[in-house]
This record gives sequence, structure tokens and C-alpha cells, in this order.
Amino acid sequence: MRNLQSTTSLHNGVKMPWLGLGVFKVEEGKELVNAVKTAIAHGYRSIDTAAIYGNEAGVGQGIREANVARKDLFVTSKVWNSELGYEATIAAYEESLRKLELDYLDLYLIHWPVAGKYKEAWQALETLYKEGRVKAIGVSNFQIHHLEDLMTDANIKPMVNQVEYHPRLTQKELQAFCRQHAIQLEAWAPLMQGQLLDNAELQDIASKHGKSVAQIILRWDLQNGVVTIPKSTKAHRIAENATVFDFELTTEEMNRMDSLNENHRVGPDPDHFDF
Ligand code: NDP
Repeated sequence: MRNLQSTTSLHNGVKMPWLGLGVFKVEEGKELVNAVKTAIAHGYRSIDTAAIYGNEAGVGQGIREANVARKDLFVTSKVWNSELGYEATIAAYEESLRKLELDYLDLYLIHWPVAGKYKEAWQALETLYKEGRVKAIGVSNFQIHHLEDLMTDANIKPMVNQVEYHPRLTQKELQAFCRQHAIQLEAWAPLMQGQLLDNAELQDIASKHGKSVAQIILRWDLQNGVVTIPKSTKAHRIAENATVFDFELTTEEMNRMDSLNENHRVGPDPDHFDF
């Protein structure tokens, strides 16, 4: 784990960068295109979008204008809840590719574990994978019981589970389960959408390293073996969030950060959502 191009190997051997750019809530337009271009110019190789973000066209434009070979980038998108079904999910994948103007994705995820629907969608992802149209497939917001249920019928285990993960929601059991099954955990809202940045405990650790709170949280992700995708549209923060490969948190600091856990979510609870 040396720089922005450092990768983890998914269980099928595909290499996924440890750190990427998230673009949730960034609307189509110049700001989005510039954020993607800035990130790639800075060395980011992974971009995380989703059909529901409504910004795949701009992400695609940013990627094209960044002028980095497609094979060197790692692009993730997600199928939305309304499209969970065999045919519907295949069609949703095609639509994401069309908007992104790409001919494959590196990772395609089921966005939320909608009861009674995710297994059929998973079959569609398996088809896309077996046909070589996507490099890796995975899920998002899956709890242990969702993963167990999915894997009862699946032919291919998910390669990634992208979940809310930050020092207030450390997801230890889920992480252990994923590790046991070689499913790479990926953190969304790693910065708790900005809500942790004034935490005194984190500020204390950050000051000892001459780093920002955002940087020590992202470093904590990496040292925990969790892929992370902080979102920013500001060039200086895109750079700041990537400068996390030049220091190391001690075991004691890692434990102090772990102890901030309150099982507190900023996003919906995967066991109680209604969308
Ligand atoms: P983050 O935890 O990444 O926080 C983003 C917020 O923090 C923005 O307001 C950003 O503002 C601010 N910020 C970023 N860097 C810094 C910094 N260095 N200092 C101070 N403030 C900073 O939240 P997200 O919800 O965006 O999560 C990250 C990504 O995860 C998403 O963009 C998306 O790709 C994915 N995601 C997936 C979900 C899922 O269900 N699978 C759900 C939610 C997110 P600014 O832009 O102004 O810098």
C-alpha cells in the first residue's frame, strides 16, 4: 500500500485500488467533470458512481478528458432498487455503460439488499461476469444475513461489499465475516459525510502526525484493510484525501479510533429501509 495506484486483489484476482473518488450528490456539470479529471490527474485510478446518482454521463466525460488508458482505471457503478430483476438488471447495466460511454465496468454492485429481489439481480450480475462484460461483481449495504442468504444460491461469491463504515460505525462482525469469505469490504461515507471532522479525539491523533482528521480516518480505513472512496469536488481536498500513504497509525491509535464506535449510521439501515 504505497500510493494511490496501490491495489488489493479481489478473490477473482482483479486488482482494485485501495482509495478512490466518490461522487454521491454531485450533479451533472462542470464541477463533476472537473472533480473526476482533477482526481485522475492527481493519481486516483478508481471512481465510484451509481445509476441513482444521475451523474454517470459526467463521470464518463471526466474519465475521457483525463486521458488515462481505460485499462488503468477502475470504474464502479450500481444497479438501483427499481431495476432489480434478471432482465431489468442486465438492461440497467447496459444503460450505465451507455451513459458512461464505456464498454465495460470494473465493478458492478447491487446497491441495496431489497428483500425478494436481490437474488434474481445477482443471477444477472453472474451472467454479465461469466460473459466477460464486467471485471468484478459485488453488493452494497449487505448485512451478514443478506450475504449468507445470497451465497446459499449464488454460483459466484460477491467480490466486494460496499457499506457505510467510519469510526462511529466500525462494523467489526461484518468485516470479520467478509474477511472469512474473501469479500473485500469497501467504506462509503468514510468521513461520515463530514460529521467527524471536529471530533476532539481524532483531532488529537491527527495533530500528532501533522495530518488532518480526514487523513487519519482514511489511513485507519487502509490499515484496517478496507477500500475507501471519500467524496470531494474541491481540488485541495481531493489531494488532501490522497495524502495518506506517507505515515502510519500506531496500534494504540487504531484502537482509540475503533473505540469511537457507537454503531451510529448517517445513512439508512440496511435492515429497515423503504425505498
Ligand atoms: P464522505 O464521508 O466521503 O464525505 C463527503 C463530504 O465530506 C462532502 O461534504 C465533502 O465536501 C466533505 N469532505 C471531503 N473531504 C474532506 C476533507 N478532506 N476535509 C473536509 N471535508 C471533506 O461521504 P459520501 O456519502 O460522499 O461517501 C463517499 C462515497 O461513497 C460517495 O460519494 C459514493 O460514491 C459512495 N456512497 C455509497 C453509498 C451506497 O449506498 N453504496 C451511499 C453513500 C455514498 P466537499 O465535496 O465540499 O469537499
